[in-house]
Amino acid sequence: MQHDVIVVGAGPAGSTTAFECGRRGASVLILDRAKFPRDKPCGGGVSIRSAKLLPFDLSPVVERTISWIRFSWRQSGDFGRDYPQPVTYLTQRSRLDAFLLQKAVDVGVAFVPHAQVKDIRRAKSGVEVLAGAVWHQGRTLVAADGANGIAARLAGIPARLSLGVALEGNITPKEGVLQRWNATMGFDLGDVPGGYGWLFPKGDHVNVGVGGWRTAGPTLRRRLDRLVRYYGFEPGQLWGLRGHYLPVRTGASCLTEGNALAVGDAAGLLDPLTGEGIYAAIFSGQTASEHLAAYLSGAAPSLAGYEDELRETLLPELDAGRTLHTLFHLSPRMYVRLQRRSPKVWQAVCKLLRGERSYLDVRRRLGLGWHLAALIAAVTYLVTSLRREAAYGGAHGQGQRGLLGRLRTPA
Ligand SMILES: Cc1cc2nc3c(=O)[nH]c(=O)nc-3n(C[C@H](O)[C@H](O)[C@H](O)COP(=O)(O)OP(=O)(O)OC[C@H]3O[C@@H](n4cnc5c(N)ncnc54)[C@H](O)[C@@H]3O)c2cc1C
Repeated sequence: MQHDVIVVGAGPAGSTTAFECGRRGASVLILDRAKFPRDKPCGGGVSIRSAKLLPFDLSPVVERTISWIRFSWRQSGDFGRDYPQPVTYLTQRSRLDAFLLQKAVDVGVAFVPHAQVKDIRRAKSGVEVLAGAVWHQGRTLVAADGANGIAARLAGIPARLSLGVALEGNITPKEGVLQRWNATMGFDLGDVPGGYGWLFPKGDHVNVGVGGWRTAGPTLRRRLDRLVRYYGFEPGQLWGLRGHYLPVRTGASCLTEGNALAVGDAAGLLDPLTGEGIYAAIFSGQTASEHLAAYLSGAAPSLAGYEDELRETLLPELDAGRTLHTLFHLSPRMYVRLQRRSPKVWQAVCKLLRGERSYLDVRRRLGLGWHLAALIAAVTYLVTSLRREAAYGGAHGQGQRGLLGRLRTPA
């Protein structure tokens, strides 16, 4: 049987694409190497702007609704900031992803678990995808297999990525501790080069993690232990400890090739400033589904419109995020001071999380000042990346093995 769309990967990007294509009447097959529910290294933070994209309510899988953030600087000097409305939902990826996948199945999408995709080849009428020992036929292909995915590369659309790295684990605290966190999440800034540490409370446990530039990889375990102690726990209490890459797009690599396109982490669409990836996964999946529908109906000659649209919408936003990330890490301490003293900065952050403001709005507001800042950021980015690469000493692939060799990656 030939499907209209074959989606490789049932994370938020793949399930959103499948759901949107399915509800438009396309026949969709979604393949994942895992059986669901499955977990995935992630803080499980779903910003309000991400939740607003979805045409259904996420509350069945929301474990906390956050309206208060506790900031600290290198595990000291903490202060709190609250907002009158929710800024983020916290969930567990095992629950969120199973929920999104079920939404797709409910509109008629066929799902095959334990279907590890190993090969993809072009056929006259579309694509052929080898999962396990079975070849599946489709008219179009969606690469949605995440940061370590192979589908985009096999389909001829490898993303050029700069890789961050994160390490996270969970702690089940003593009775009473969770109530203290209730609607609060913690961010510790200044300790991890190129990133931050966090504490996200869930229904019955807390998720604590650290992430940053990949050069920080070998130090993450030490930093995580320190952070865990700072929040009043012991490293020995950590369970489910996992490391994973954070793929951030660099340069202008393609997002489509013929009848194939890439969404979410497979396309490196992570927010360079915050490491938030669920927003882009959903956004790119929804955008992709519109162009898949146009292509399948014959209204569009190719899927190129998907890439054109992201170049108008999401990609400039991610570029602005990259500039802000570089500026932020020029002086994270200044940011913490601003956050402590300026209600305007705090409100801007909350509006960004709620989708009421974008990085491009920030850029517009700063006017000429932004261009100067962008220039400083570009030069800093170039110099620090060259330094990091030199310190890192070696080829891309070699580096990946070296770093993650010390962290436990998911199967
Ligand atoms: C430690 C950490 C914390 C994070 N915290 C947050 C956060 O709090 N909020 C946020 O917004 N983002 C966060 N992110 C980023 C977020 O997890 C990702 O951006 C998001 O999961 C991307 O979704 P996706 O659907 O593109 O890919 P994924 O969620 O990675 O899904 C990919 C799917 O493809 C499947 N797959 C992979 N290879 C194959 C194959 N060969 N064949 C078949 N199936 C395959 C996998 O099993 C998986 O189900 C975090 C990331 C990390 C590493």
